[in-house]
Amino acid sequence: MQATVLCRVSRVTRAARTQLGLGSGPTGALATVCQRRHASHEADLVVIGSGPGGYVAAIKAAQLGMKTVCVEKNPTYGGTCLNVGCIPSKALLNNSHYYHMAKSKDFAERGIEVENVRVNLDKLMASKNKAVTALTGGIAHLFKNNKVLGLKGHGKITSPTEVTVMKEDGENDTVRAKNILIATGSEVTPFPGIEVDEETVVSSTGALKLSRVPDHMVLIGAGVIGLELGSVWSRLGAKVTAVEFLDSVGGLGIDGEISKNFQRILTKQGIKFKLSTKVLSASKEGSTIKVAVEGVKNNKKEELECDTLLVCVGRRPYTSNLGLEELGIEKDAKGRIPVNSRFQTVIPNIFAIGDCIHGPMLAHKAEDEGIVCVEGIAGGPVHIDYNCVPSVIYTHPEVAWVGKTEEDLKAEGVEYTVGKFPFAANSRAKCNNDTDGLVKVLADKHTDRLLGAHLIGPAAGELINEAALAMEYGASCEDVARVCHAHPTCSEAFREANLAAYFGKPINF
Ligand SMILES: Cc1cc2nc3c(=O)[nH]c(=O)nc-3n(C[C@H](O)[C@H](O)[C@H](O)COP(=O)(O)OP(=O)(O)OC[C@H]3O[C@@H](n4cnc5c(N)ncnc54)[C@H](O)[C@@H]3O)c2cc1C
Repeated sequence: MQATVLCRVSRVTRAARTQLGLGSGPTGALATVCQRRHASHEADLVVIGSGPGGYVAAIKAAQLGMKTVCVEKNPTYGGTCLNVGCIPSKALLNNSHYYHMAKSKDFAERGIEVENVRVNLDKLMASKNKAVTALTGGIAHLFKNNKVLGLKGHGKITSPTEVTVMKEDGENDTVRAKNILIATGSEVTPFPGIEVDEETVVSSTGALKLSRVPDHMVLIGAGVIGLELGSVWSRLGAKVTAVEFLDSVGGLGIDGEISKNFQRILTKQGIKFKLSTKVLSASKEGSTIKVAVEGVKNNKKEELECDTLLVCVGRRPYTSNLGLEELGIEKDAKGRIPVNSRFQTVIPNIFAIGDCIHGPMLAHKAEDEGIVCVEGIAGGPVHIDYNCVPSVIYTHPEVAWVGKTEEDLKAEGVEYTVGKFPFAANSRAKCNNDTDGLVKVLADKHTDRLLGAHLIGPAAGELINEAALAMEYGASCEDVARVCHAHPTCSEAFREANLAAYFGKPINF
């Protein structure tokens, strides 16, 4: 890294040396403290944002031989995903599931008798925080090992080849770079008229660190994030009611049949749903939050009372004070940065990836874009098949899908076959007493090519990667069904569904 450091150097006083633990004698280079006021760096690539898109892109770029700087405004690396998204939510989902199994009759039915099962919320949160700290701290090590220079501060693009890093101490650094990659991610979409205090009226961020289990939590939105966090608090003892504008759960992109199954299973677990219902307003009266709702179809008005309101109506791109306007980079109607197939903005050496551009807001999508984008900068080909990007909802059972839904295929007029296999007939699911759900695959009627896979069931979030791999390689259902699958595994249910799609009948059902 060619870094020209312009700084004011002062002699260290004896007192300061003692405080710094440097001893009292002169020690060459350490005898001075460099009070850096302004540093300027030269790089091949500067990445703004260290979420899964940005940090992965920065590491890949360095591995490809580019001098790389990554600028992050938060105190820790990792972005939404590691700090307030994927990682803390999955830690809470996993541990609340264990608690729920121990507390409910599930353990007893397995012959495991435990008494006085209690949740220690402080420890549960500490365990989650430990995972977050380990993983965010891990990025600093990865940067060091891969020779990525990490800079803490708000990055603003001040020319097509310069990023100014505004640091917390009020000073600025500059990075002059041949290429700039914007990976600034997204933020919670606010609900008009409802003020989030992150204590009782919370976004997903507040819902990851509540200090007590709510009595009644109302969710505005029954999409992926709402149902994951609603499941956590429901398992820990809260009554949970999800209010959803749409007439189905699980958000956009979920197959209709799977969504219905999902809603049925969550209802059995105790979550209440108010579908086709819109929230009009919410107001606080003491410790009670009153939520006014109205039926979308019948205009029937109702008031719900709760002590915790989780606003989870989606996320929007975050591009505040990035310098886009000054550079003439116009955002689209949804606030996203338009890019071409090589992730170039209207300024060819300024790129953008992840949640701040089009496409699903998913960590692995951001990562893949980061990798192919920098490979493209290094002269390689750039291609992502977005149809092969899987989605997962980490409830229990998990829900996962990739490719086309039945609704998509009908709308596109594609003739298709369906293969299904219930987990109730899968030997591993039976051994594990974890049989809720099914695998459903969709194939081209004429070529047998796998077009979509939709799972609800144990380990669906792992199994879906087999479907994504098959689809990436253009496999037919027969190809999948002829692959030897280890026994007993839940993945045999995926094989059987493919067998059902191409041959008409599975073996074990
Ligand atoms: C509760 C929750 C659960 C989720 N669970 C999952 C999941 O299980 N699986 C999944 O795939 N996705 C999940 N997501 C979505 C996932 O977190 C995002 O899709 C992913 O983090 C996007 O990555 P990114 O790199 O584009 O942006 P981000 O992760 O948002 O990172 C952007 C980074 O850029 C920094 N930044 C922004 N502007 C500047 C600037 N000007 N200067 C310097 N730094 C800046 C931000 O501080 C941030 O660190 C979840 C999200 C939430 C909220």
